[in-house]
Amino acid sequence: MSRAYNFCAGPAALPTAVLEQAQQEMLDYQGMGLSIMEMSHRDKVFVDIAEKAEQDLRDLMGISDDYAVLFLQGGASTQFAMVPMNLLGAGETADYINTGQWSKKAIKEAARYGNINVAASSEDTNFTTVPPQDTWQLSANPAYVHYCPNETIGGLEYSFIPEVGDTTLVADMSSTILSRPVDVNRFGLIYAGAQKNIGPAGLTLVIVRKDLLGKAGANVPAMLNYQTHADNGSMYNTPPTYAWYLAGLVFEWLKKQGGVANMAEINQRKAEKLYGFIDGSDFYSNPVEVISRSQMNVPFVLGDDRLDKPFLAEADAAGLLNLKGHRSVGGMRASIYNAVPEAAVDALIAFMADFEKRNA
Ligand SMILES: *Cc1c(COP(=O)(O)O)cnc(C)c1O
Repeated sequence: MSRAYNFCAGPAALPTAVLEQAQQEMLDYQGMGLSIMEMSHRDKVFVDIAEKAEQDLRDLMGISDDYAVLFLQGGASTQFAMVPMNLLGAGETADYINTGQWSKKAIKEAARYGNINVAASSEDTNFTTVPPQDTWQLSANPAYVHYCPNETIGGLEYSFIPEVGDTTLVADMSSTILSRPVDVNRFGLIYAGAQKNIGPAGLTLVIVRKDLLGKAGANVPAMLNYQTHADNGSMYNTPPTYAWYLAGLVFEWLKKQGGVANMAEINQRKAEKLYGFIDGSDFYSNPVEVISRSQMNVPFVLGDDRLDKPFLAEADAAGLLNLKGHRSVGGMRASIYNAVPEAAVDALIAFMADFEKRNA
């Protein structure tokens, strides 16, 4: 068996140790004679797995009892609708910050449900900057302020948590959750699709302050009401049991790595190495303002885009997979989430240096 280095933006690399454990437990979970996939979600064995995963996540992120942790489906894209359906009352306005493709989608979806004020946008810099907070035109009394701390496609990451006083702050943390410590108490609601930095696709995490539950209108479907899932331990209907179990294994793995603070150190080192190499070269470049460069998603272009195809083919052959940039921006993108080891970044840099030498 050989495992290549996988730089996919999502579904993304998972820790090999986690996959090995899942493989071992796949057919016969702890001598029970069946797979977790084949087990009732009401079975005490699964309920224990589910509760342990939640507790481990609470430990890793320091989530207090003031918050519910929900294990849902539908991806972050469903949260683009669920957030306003649950938090935006009739006649109220929600403020959004537009810093890239995922912000835009969130804004477009929210606009179906109520008044949306785009309080700041960096579209004029082609999303290579984060608008400084003192330029934001927040509305007088918004129901919430929504932002995307890490734009996965543009490789743009906020270097700060917005200061919004008593207003509810909502964050799409799909591609940055668990990459560094964050003070959850600053947020009213955090959501994240699992397939970037948590586990397999099919699971979506929502961390919501309990006082925000129960605000959805009467016409909001039960499945799209946070209250339903909070009241039922995310088991109102059949949850994505196997994805939940795998996320739990990733949380255990993260604890063994020394937790999120330790991952943050490694992630910072990985990102600094790669950006350092790109900045030191005349052949590769990254357009994002230095302070707002993503630690998780590193887009870069080659001076001559006719070299894109050979670059990708040769990278593939060298066991460096999924480096193609998003179709909307082109070029390359290396996603270097928690499960991508430092050795992968070293191998990528060595390959890039060699490719440059042969093609510059
Ligand atoms: C991937 C991603 C999404 C979309 O997630 P789905 O699970 O595919 O709906 C939304 N926001 C961000 C920041 C993402 O990285």
